Amino acid sequence: MLLKNYLFKNLWLQVVISLILGLSVGLILGDDVGVGIDDNTLDFATSYLSIPANIFLSLIYMIIVPLIFTSIVVAVNALGATDKLKTLGLGVSTYFVITTTIAILVAVLLASIIAPGSLIDIAAMQESYDLSDNEMKTDEGFSLDDIPNAVSNIIPRNPITSYLEGQMFSILIFALIVGLSMAALPKESAKPLLDLLESVQKITLHILLFSMKIVPFAVFGLIVGMVSKVGIASMAGLGVYMGTVVLGLGVMVLVYTLILKIVAKRPISSTFSKFRNPQTVSFSTASSMATMPVTLKTADEDLKIDPQVSKFVIPFGTTVNMDGTALYQVIAVFFLAQLFSIELSILAIFVIIITSLLASIGTPAVPGAGTIVLSTILITVGIPPVGILLLLSVDRILDMIRTMVNVTGDLTACCVFDKITRDKL
Ligand code: ASP
Repeated sequence: MLLKNYLFKNLWLQVVISLILGLSVGLILGDDVGVGIDDNTLDFATSYLSIPANIFLSLIYMIIVPLIFTSIVVAVNALGATDKLKTLGLGVSTYFVITTTIAILVAVLLASIIAPGSLIDIAAMQESYDLSDNEMKTDEGFSLDDIPNAVSNIIPRNPITSYLEGQMFSILIFALIVGLSMAALPKESAKPLLDLLESVQKITLHILLFSMKIVPFAVFGLIVGMVSKVGIASMAGLGVYMGTVVLGLGVMVLVYTLILKIVAKRPISSTFSKFRNPQTVSFSTASSMATMPVTLKTADEDLKIDPQVSKFVIPFGTTVNMDGTALYQVIAVFFLAQLFSIELSILAIFVIIITSLLASIGTPAVPGAGTIVLSTILITVGIPPVGILLLLSVDRILDMIRTMVNVTGDLTACCVFDKITRDKL
């Protein structure tokens, strides 16, 4: 009875059980250690098993744009009425840039010292992935002409298109502008829209919290599909590269631990144990966005963060703060540059640092997005984008771990700004 109650209350435990069950069933169905059923039957079985995951993700996609938009507008508007906006808005943005830069520097350091790309035989890689010489050709790279265009495109000219296409970064900028303008107006002018937005926010949050009930089933289906299809063997060749990414992500967790202890002044072990729900959900869904309802719930209920802080930091952080993704992207670029024997000059490294900072901000918080956005960084240094193909076979597992780090970073930021605003105001 006690165990049953505990299980019902703890999402992380349900997810861990689903992970273990999914892993076992995936191994049994797959080629590596299991019965190795034929591909058609496997596709058939996994397409049925992925129904809960698809329903869950559709619910999230259905609701995420209005949820992010309303959360940011309502939060900025509420903060604008107090002194908190200056502390939070500027402070949080600066903090995000600092932690992402730390992640990037850790990545540059590890990738240069370990040099995972130099340990791999490129000819063997080319053959096993069946790539033509043309596809392997390296390129010119970044040019200063690209900057003005990129900067001008930050403000969305047509927010409706951004909405329809789910461009989260443009939506975020639009929401910030609307929220700031509402805060600047007399209360009566902003109130009708504010009431409406608050109502939309509550309804979308309710749908999201409700959809969390599907998560354990979704995780089971996702993991069976991944383990049975990808197989363990295909991951072995890229072991050192994966090890470097995982090591870097581990260093970031250490950085968060120090920040929690020194800046947020929170006890490490009890705080980390409160992170468990969002961490397990982000690990299994590989999407910070899909984890957002749990992250918000944890911030409010377990970490007792001031709701004004959490309702701003979490949606904002989920959209722009991806330390794990930035770290992964930089290690991946170095890995491919080493693999393709591209010498990286100091200027090229600097360009990688800046583009990965921007790319991680612009990466949508959904599975695999970090790898797709990676192609922009590859182009800036002239690595053939086909290099991504090499990374894709091991992407899912790294995605799961980096997403967990992304979410841990957002929660750490919440603790930091909860402390700062409580002290200051
Ligand atoms: N899956 C990551 C996230 O949602 C983004 C990425 O692909 O790195 O946070």
